[in-house]
Formats: sequence, structure tokens, C-alpha cells
Amino acid sequence: MSTVSAQPAGHNPAPPGAGLSAAQRALRKLGLVRDIDFALYLPLRYEDETRIMRLADARDGETVQVEGAIIESEVVYRPRRQLRAAFDDGSGTCQLRFFNFYPSLHKQLAPGARVRVRGELRDGFLGRQMVHPVVKAAATALPQALTPVYSTIAGLAQPVLRREVRAGLARAALDETLPPELLPPRAWSLRDALHFLHTPAPDVALATLEDRSHPAWQRVKADELLAQQLSQQQARQERATQCAPRLTVAGANACDANSLHARLLAALPFALTGAQRRADAEIAADLAREIPMHRLLQGDVGAGKTVVAALAAARCIDAGYQCALMAPTEILAAQHFGKLVQWLDPLLIERGLRVAWLTGSQKKKERDTMAAAIESGEAALVVGTHAVISEKTTFRRLALAIIDEQHRFGVEQRLALRGKAVHAQDGGQTAHTAEGGQAPGPLEPHLLMMSATPIPRTLAMSYYADLDLSTLDELPPGRTPVVTKLVAEHRREEIIARIQAQLAQGRQVYWVCPLIEESEVVDLRNATATRDELVQALGTQVNVGLLHSRLPAADKQAAMAQFTAGQLHVLVSTTVIEVGVDVPNACLMVIEHAERFGLSQLHQLRGRVGRGAAASACVLLYAPGENGRVGELARERLRAMIETSDGFEIARRDLEIRGPGEFLGARQSGAPLLRFADLDADARLLTWARGLAPRLLAQYPLLAQRHIDRWLGSKAEYLKA
Ligand code: ADP
Ligand code: MG
Repeated sequence: MSTVSAQPAGHNPAPPGAGLSAAQRALRKLGLVRDIDFALYLPLRYEDETRIMRLADARDGETVQVEGAIIESEVVYRPRRQLRAAFDDGSGTCQLRFFNFYPSLHKQLAPGARVRVRGELRDGFLGRQMVHPVVKAAATALPQALTPVYSTIAGLAQPVLRREVRAGLARAALDETLPPELLPPRAWSLRDALHFLHTPAPDVALATLEDRSHPAWQRVKADELLAQQLSQQQARQERATQCAPRLTVAGANACDANSLHARLLAALPFALTGAQRRADAEIAADLAREIPMHRLLQGDVGAGKTVVAALAAARCIDAGYQCALMAPTEILAAQHFGKLVQWLDPLLIERGLRVAWLTGSQKKKERDTMAAAIESGEAALVVGTHAVISEKTTFRRLALAIIDEQHRFGVEQRLALRGKAVHAQDGGQTAHTAEGGQAPGPLEPHLLMMSATPIPRTLAMSYYADLDLSTLDELPPGRTPVVTKLVAEHRREEIIARIQAQLAQGRQVYWVCPLIEESEVVDLRNATATRDELVQALGTQVNVGLLHSRLPAADKQAAMAQFTAGQLHVLVSTTVIEVGVDVPNACLMVIEHAERFGLSQLHQLRGRVGRGAAASACVLLYAPGENGRVGELARERLRAMIETSDGFEIARRDLEIRGPGEFLGARQSGAPLLRFADLDADARLLTWARGLAPRLLAQYPLLAQRHIDRWLGSKAEYLKA
């Protein structure tokens, strides 16, 4: 019986940490609280203790279990203190060596004692040996099943964890949540599958456990994928019960030439791409409904997401509501603000409206002015950083929130938007109610998220089933592809010549320094040193600017503004320019220590050049490590950069290199990662789960809920956010 669990039933855990032993705390850290959590905590691998081998038959390097007698044993002190014992199983001999041991082990290994030892057999200086084998008394009965080995952490010994898992498994209610006719054909029961995976019969083909193709694994993975689909689809259904303002042009048809939307389209200096038109139409259809939009607009860097956002804002304003646009950094927000003011302000002013700017670094007086304009509704569009959704900001009638680079915002910030709901009776138009549909009550804002790091389709299907997707898969015309070159660090001088050639043509240059995560100070020194070096090399005619995250917001803005205006010729920067910066005259980017950057980050950076008609280049400077080589994964990333400039292909490769867990982890903190299923290998199960989820939710809502709880437990609430 359990000796560690705080409570045998395990359903109502005490507050975290209160009066727990180290082992209990470690179990919590592993997420092991409820009985079912233990049951679903599956082994990493197995050890075969079911058989005794003959030493004579064992190969060197093999992990074996043998039984025999101790011939002699002694503690020696040279070259190091150690316990050595000579062991003989009748077929052969070997030496057992222990560097850390209790006196009791010395006793256990007394000459003549019969023992069972298990360890890796090595051919050593003194003949065959095992270092630190596991020693047991010889008479113990052999186990009937393979011994599971679980992933563990400090403070939790394997035998303790093993005992806890066994106890949890025995107590857990493993009744089926799925009616038998809905299970995949020939599926194992969950109970059988879990018991088998924790203690498989010794005759199992180990390979089928390792590659998880065994029917027991199939059942577990099917369940996991189903839980994931159920929770996503349930979240979608819940959203469908919420109300949002219908954003259509009041009292007129959508083609009204006087609408802000139509006038903005007419005023743009370019025609929309087909992809932009499609995205605009998809958004329009969502906004015209009475349930909140939840849409991700994804498109490669430079695909033109901002215009699509501006058009959505225009539709919102046409309907008499306010729109908010948020970006994760002030630089990025400022870029958006620049564009949106230029496009929309001339059209808004006639209506007594305006675009407002709001950030945390603003002077109080300015911010108060903005806050007043937002509260009165005069600020039809508010652009800024997190400050836009802070509690202090009160909108008169917010109906659309646009979040750029959504993966950089946390769940809390997305939740904060909910607090900005409009109440039907006090906001906007009463026309909706007159039209007969809309119930009074809070109206949730529509949500449009934007991302330049596309999510491959398989991932989107499983992780973002709660999200509708619009994809800009077409770049605006007239772009010249960026030429990407790999250059070794020791050829740095050639780069200076390249920079000079660009400057001679009146072009501008980015020089990006790596982010060394352990130390912002080192970063800074790097960037500053590089700036000084470039000033030296390029001469005083050339203006070299410096931009890094430690600069005060005003200085960052100033550096960006000067670079945009062409007063700075070269901008040395850390990765703060990664997203959104748009200076078409910059035609060369040098990335120092490119081997240290992630793939999608490199792609984002490269997207800062090639924004005008002139030919552009990106130089990836790399420095081999101490062994004179660049690591395997870094090499794959650099190769991908050379071979393709298609953001979707880059995302696919990034996923391949990192695996779904890390790929998503880097995108979304707290994303529900699959523990067992693999989206590629288990595509068939994923299809099954996607198809089944709606049926289960409709016909067996209670079972569906139990299934979600079993797998996601308390996390389920969080995921709906
Ligand atoms: P991103 O998708 O990376 O946010 P932006 O919205 O910043 O891209 O657009 C990149 C550049 O392309 C901007 O200068 C923008 O004005 C321009 N642009 C957007 N759409 C078009 C189009 N249809 N034709 C020509 N240029 C466009
Ligand atoms: Mg952008």
C-alpha cells in the first residue's frame, strides 16, 4: 500500500507544498496527484529481470542478470577506495566493483554468499566486470513481467516511484469512457492496455513497445488524442453560446462606397493580393455573426497582414464600434501605428474619430488624454502594447481586438480581453436587438490573432481545433527573393566590403547580434563592441546606430525613427528587430553567430530585408565550436535557410528538427502538449479522434466530460481560456 501519497483517494489534494515530504513534492512536480495520473504515467523503458543468464553466454556491453556465489571480496584503497568482489556462476566469473557502498553491502558480499546481480558486463583491465550492479539475495522469486523504468527527478528514487505508480494504478477507476461501438476496431480496453504497459509480459516484442505500435499503446494514444480533440471542440461549442456584436455596416449594405472599408480600399496605393482578399472576406463573414470570432491570420513575413487588420478595423468602425490592436513590443506597435494613422486617420477625421496610441512608457498627461478619447469613443482604433488591455483602459464599445504575434502574449492577457466586454444596453448600436437576434447581456469582443510563424496543418488541426485559420499564402507582387549566404566568421572582412558596396548605392544595412540568454550584459557588450568595430571599419561618413532591449523606450523609438528616415545607415541590433520592422531601403542583413538562432527566428530576421524592389541579401555568419564544427542541429537549420525562403516550408522543417513539443512550446507557453501520441506517426488515430469528438459531445456529453477530466484533469479549465 502507498506510503507516500498524501491521501489515498488523491482527489482533493492539499494546498501545494503544505507539510509534504520530499518524495511527495517530487510526485506533485511530475503532475502525479490523482490515482489516474499515476495510472497514465507510463514507463520510459523496461528492464528484463525475469530471466537468469549464464555468464558464459553473455556478451560484453550487454545488461545481464546472473546468479552465483561470491568467491572473495575486499575493500581496496588504490587507485580509489572501492569494494571488489569476485563472482562465479558456474559457467564463468566476473568482478563486481562498487565505489560508493554501505558496510552492509560488504557483508552481503561475504565469501560463499549466493547472490543475484544485474548490471552491464564490461571487459575491463582486470577481466570481465560489472560496476555498481544491483545486488539481491539469490533465493528471491523471479518477477513474471518486465520491470518498468519511469522518468523521475531528484528526491524521488526509482523504487519509490515504481511503488507509487503500482499503487495508483491499482486504485484508479479505469472503467471505459467510450461506448464499445465507438472504439476503433479490435481496440484493447483501457484497463488492459494500462496494466500491460506498466508490467508487460516478458515475451512481448520489445520493439513494439519502443516504437509504440503495440495495441496497448495504440489504445492509450487514441484516448489521449480524443481528450485533446474533445476539449478543443468543447471550447469551440462554448464560444458559440457567447454573444458578440454583429459588425456589419448599419442600415446599409456592405458594398456602400462611403463605408470606411470601401474608402480605405480605394485609398491604398496597391491592389490586394488574392490571398488578402480571401482573408478579408473570411473575417467579414465572422464579424457579421453574433458569436465571437476566434481567428488566426497566418502569413509569412511581408505577406501583408497589417492591411488585412486595417480592413477588419474599418469594418468594426463602420458598424459603430471600437477596435484595439496590440503588439508585443513597442517598436512593433509603433510600426503598426505609423501605417494605420497614415491609412485611416484622414478618413476618420471627417467623422470626428481618430487612431489613438497607447503604451506603458507614455507620459501620464499624454496617456490621460488618450484614455479620455478611448472612453468617449472618439478613439475608434487604439494601437499599442499591453497597456491597451490593462484594467485602467476603459473602452466605450470595444468590439474587435487584434493581436499581432499572438504567441508572444500569455493566456492571461488574452483573458484580460474578456473583461472588456460591452454591455448591449450601453454600447454601440441597438440595431442588433431591433433585428431580433441579439440577447441582452455582455457582448464579447471578436478576436483576430496574427502570426508570421505559420503552424503546419497537422498541428493546426490538433492543437488549434478551437481556432479558425486564414492563410496568406501569396506575397505581394514585385518582391525580389533574398539571396542567403553562409559565411564563416574568419571571413568577416569580406562582409565589410559588401556593406560598403551597399552603402555606396544608398542602401541601408542591418547587423544582428545574437542573444546570449544567460546574460543580457554580455549581449550588450557584444552589440556595443560590434558597433564600435563597424564605426572603425566604415569610417566617420557612415552613421552606425545601436538598438538593444536595454535602451529606454524613447531611445529605441529614436533609433528606429532615424533608421527609417535613412539618417542611420547601419543598424546594429539584438533581436528586438525580429518582428514587424519595415524599412524597404534596407537590403543587406548580416546575422552574427547565426548558428545560435532558432530556425523560425532566422527566418523572421531575414524577413526584414527584401521589402523593396532592390535585390537583397542575408549573410549568415557562423562560428564553429571548439571542435571546429557546427553542431548537427545548427547545421540543419542553416541548411534550411539556404535551401528555402518559404515560411511554410521553414515551419515544416522547424517542426521536423525540433519535434512538436518544442516547436509548440516555443510558440505558446502552457500549450497542451501530447505526452504519448505523435502527430505524424499517429495521423490515423488523430483522424479517428477528430471524427468521433463531435458525436461523443452530442450523444454522450457526460462520458465526454469524464474523458476530458481523466486526461486533462484540472488543466481542462485552463485550456478553454
Ligand atoms: P506582414 O505580413 O509581415 O506584417 P506587412 O503588413 O508589414 O507584412 O506588409 C509588408 C509590406 O508590404 C508593407 O510595406 C505593406 O504596405 C506592403 N503590402 C501589403 N500588401 C500589399 C499588396 N497587396 N501589394 C503591395 N504591397 C503590399
Ligand atoms: Mg507584421
